[in-house]
Amino acid sequence: MAHVQEIYGSMVFNEHVMKERLPKETYKSLVKTVREGKPLDIEVANVVAHAMKEWAIERGATHYTHWFQPLTGITSEKHDSFLDPVGDGTAIMTFSGKELVQGEPDASSFPSGGLRATFEARGYTTWDPTSFAFIKDEVLCIPTAFCSYTGEALDKKTPLLRSMNAVDKEAQRVLKYFGEDGHRVTTTVGAEQEYFLISEKDYVQRQDLIMTGRTLFGAPPSKGQELEEHYFGAIRPTVNNFMKEVDDDLWALGVSAKTKHNEVAPAQHELAPLFTNSNRAIDENLLTMEKMRLDASHHGLVCLTHEKPFEGINGSGKHNNWSLSYGKVNLLDPGDDPMDNLRFLVFLTCVVEAVDEYQELLRMSVASAGNDHRLGANEAPPAIISIFLGDELGAIVDSLISGKEYHSAEAVAMDLGVAVLPKFLKDNTDRNRTSPFAFTGNKFEFRMPGSGVNLSDCNMILNTAMAKSLKDFADAMGDVSGAEFEKKAIKYIKQTLTDHQRIIFNGNGYSEEWEKEAQRRGLANHRTTADALPCLISQKSIDLFEEFGVLNEAEVRSRYEVKLEKYNKLLNIEARVMIRMARRTYLPAISDYMADLASNITTVKSALSGADMTEHEKLLNIILNGFNCAAECVRELVKLHDATEAIEDPQEQANAYACKVIPAMEALRKEIDDLECVVERGYWPVPTYNDILFYA
Ligand code: ADP
Ligand code: MG
Repeated sequence: MAHVQEIYGSMVFNEHVMKERLPKETYKSLVKTVREGKPLDIEVANVVAHAMKEWAIERGATHYTHWFQPLTGITSEKHDSFLDPVGDGTAIMTFSGKELVQGEPDASSFPSGGLRATFEARGYTTWDPTSFAFIKDEVLCIPTAFCSYTGEALDKKTPLLRSMNAVDKEAQRVLKYFGEDGHRVTTTVGAEQEYFLISEKDYVQRQDLIMTGRTLFGAPPSKGQELEEHYFGAIRPTVNNFMKEVDDDLWALGVSAKTKHNEVAPAQHELAPLFTNSNRAIDENLLTMEKMRLDASHHGLVCLTHEKPFEGINGSGKHNNWSLSYGKVNLLDPGDDPMDNLRFLVFLTCVVEAVDEYQELLRMSVASAGNDHRLGANEAPPAIISIFLGDELGAIVDSLISGKEYHSAEAVAMDLGVAVLPKFLKDNTDRNRTSPFAFTGNKFEFRMPGSGVNLSDCNMILNTAMAKSLKDFADAMGDVSGAEFEKKAIKYIKQTLTDHQRIIFNGNGYSEEWEKEAQRRGLANHRTTADALPCLISQKSIDLFEEFGVLNEAEVRSRYEVKLEKYNKLLNIEARVMIRMARRTYLPAISDYMADLASNITTVKSALSGADMTEHEKLLNIILNGFNCAAECVRELVKLHDATEAIEDPQEQANAYACKVIPAMEALRKEIDDLECVVERGYWPVPTYNDILFYA
């Protein structure tokens, strides 16, 4: 245990290190910046930079980098050494406040969705002091936001930080009615990360995994996850060693990796950290994915963070646990006394309103080519957003709406005066795994995000929508206080919950009836990314982002373009890989088997005249037919893919990928997968699901 305590945070320039290393005044003003989001002045930055550099060099660092998240969603870094030659053949190590606070990476190769013409390559990175600097592989990494020369956000972090500020501002207005304002309100996130681990020797033989992160072919394994033996099962030694290394690495980086276990699907696992403020939680999640990928290679393994690496068994998600708090007060915690409960109900109501009003944006935020294979399949929430409140809270909300008396489990009666609002159970035992947005006692769990996604987008939207609901509440309350406020607030809660009760659903989200019911309720159901993306540029969305200064119209449009482009590019790659694998790998192998079968038939017949080779001939026919059908499917896919590639309008192109190319890919896959089950094993050119998922 001492070991863990020793390494935990050892590579992080955290508050403890700041306190130890910085002059008192500098420390105070930096902490103010960190805790309250106050701007940092350059003199303070100079002192901090010097201390940071000394600290980093002692820990073996030679370079520094502004670590940022361009619109690709992954992280970027360009390493600069601290080295500064002094002209006499020697050098000193320097790092200035300016270098800490601002960087100027050549930005022309990052996607910007037309925001920045490539000739205007300048982009700026600025330090986000609310996420600590850390050392990774001898490089001091400074978490930064990335903007264009004209100040437009070119990254995922900037709008997230803006949305956190918006929530803070509006939440404080609301808290004023409860006499609790004056503290910075932050949103918190705990991201549970699912992933697959497979053996490297299988991986290198699969072009599809290498190029696209998922298998484009592969018949279901002889056994899947039906025995439910993998979930929480004993962890194999290789995997255990991998997990230990990841834990050690993450702990050194101050990431509180807490829980690890086997998941439902074979070869699937999960890692969950302790929650922290949203921006840091997302930085930590990106670091976690990076470490998992790198460390896997030390154990002859490959870590797959794709949402759906294998057809027919569960894909991987990334549950986004979300709440709001100030200091140690969690604003989504029901609390013990009536006034706390009223505050809780206000925040809860605002969440319900935010999620209903902006359900399409939330759905959009998790849309990706990979996640399309997950949402709506019987393993992940459907593409329809709804909120699960659980029996007890659900009943409270029902009684608020209907005006009827509420009877809790302990039969405590409630009329609708605040003084007798019930103290309800905090621990929600009835957890509904099928809900995309579930209340889990003192936080909400958004279960739609896919394992590969950067969570900034969905949190940015959640926060901004929440800011909007909080603002509407505060605006509606106006200048009231005391008992008058309580009355007005309860009336507001009743009305708002009534207006938005369609989003609340406590039943089975996987059922077909729910899909029909959701349609009757008027809830959106965008099944593909191509369907889900356009809502981002609706006037309603643009108005929301502009009202809270989170994104301006140009920034919104650029993001839409980048997302579309990414979807189209990914599908283009998938189609190309499929065509190539079919033509160069599968069809030739099938043909070889066919030829050998045929020559076996002739050989036997010539050796034994009148030999009954009917079974052989039947098999040969099956293979020949399959081969012909597969070849026909390749031709069809090529045709549709070419036609789609020629479409200029990116949205139309995305639509064509979704409704023409993907079905053609599925048709080809089916032919090859069927053949996989009959072609002799020795002829099959790549490792199968049986090989990949059940390695030793
Ligand atoms: P599970 O969904 O697997 O039952 P847990 O209850 O253990 O999960 O918590 C899941 C995640 O939720 C953890 O990462 C945890 O840190 C996080 N979490 C707990 N409280 C909060 C909160 N107030 N805000 C955000 N995340 C939270
Ligand atoms: Mg969970």
